[in-house]
Amino acid sequence: MEKIKLGHGAGGDLMKNLVEEIVSSIDLKKTEKGFGLDRLEDAGIVDLGDKKIALTTDSYTVDPLFFPGGDIGTLAVCGTVNDLAVMGAEPLALTLAYIIEEGFPLNDLKRVTDSVNHSSKAVGVPIITGDSKVIEHGKMDKLIVNTAGIGIVKQLVTNHGANPGDKILVSGSVGDHGLALLAKRFDFDTDMASDCAPIWEIVKRALEIGGISAMKDPTRGGLANCLNELAEKSSRAFFVKEKQVPLKEKARSIGEILGIDPLQTASEGRVVMCVKPERADDILETLKKFDEDASVIGHVEKEPKGKVILETVVGGRRFLEPAIGELYPRIC
Ligand code: MG
Repeated sequence: MEKIKLGHGAGGDLMKNLVEEIVSSIDLKKTEKGFGLDRLEDAGIVDLGDKKIALTTDSYTVDPLFFPGGDIGTLAVCGTVNDLAVMGAEPLALTLAYIIEEGFPLNDLKRVTDSVNHSSKAVGVPIITGDSKVIEHGKMDKLIVNTAGIGIVKQLVTNHGANPGDKILVSGSVGDHGLALLAKRFDFDTDMASDCAPIWEIVKRALEIGGISAMKDPTRGGLANCLNELAEKSSRAFFVKEKQVPLKEKARSIGEILGIDPLQTASEGRVVMCVKPERADDILETLKKFDEDASVIGHVEKEPKGKVILETVVGGRRFLEPAIGELYPRIC
């Protein structure tokens, strides 16, 4: 009998297959006028006529719970707020649920809750309801956090809207979160920190400029996964120049030591946007106000549909493929 592997949660093709398997078993996937699971977006949309509500949920299983640049509490707020933001939705409220292993130190739980509180205050999004459960010692690992978020759509942007001619922008260096976490796990002597942060303010400013045709946060599976999903769902070809992709030197070296491609590694405070060419300069200028590493990394064409073509630093061309399975579990 086939069994679930860790790789089924790692953000690559295995996870995609599992999600498709689950989704195919669900009959009611959307509301009357909105869209839902059938679209596999970062959030579902409930259409109320004069308003659209975005709804999303995420569970956090990150290991270690505390890492340079944040912890599971920071992640649980930012990750959910960011999934609303990339739909063009202003986050309104969050839920918070803890599943706790018996024996987990109360002080650590307090630290996590302080981080939740701090992040929720920073984005001005209240936690309005929650839940906690305790599981017997040894039957799970320490702490799992779930958050759900609702937002009000300001300007609906999806994964499906990229058009030929669009410029592809990224709001900062890629792979920081995943590489910081792995560096911590393997006890590296480095100051590499997670980029974990809310992106709504950045997205809001970019939406005000206009011309965003598709948007996504490069979380599990990193930039490679994010670009492939956008290209596939939009039925377009994405051409990316490797030397334009912002990557911290220390991220590059941690990646080299561990044999991990930073382009396939999660960020938790970045956004990838496909933007009409005439608005690209203005949006880039705005992104750079938040992070000077923001960059135009490529453009969109018609063919080959659903593919991401990377022009390498030495000038060659190859397909940038999403990760297949378990690169590193429990990254978020
Ligand atoms: Mg997302």
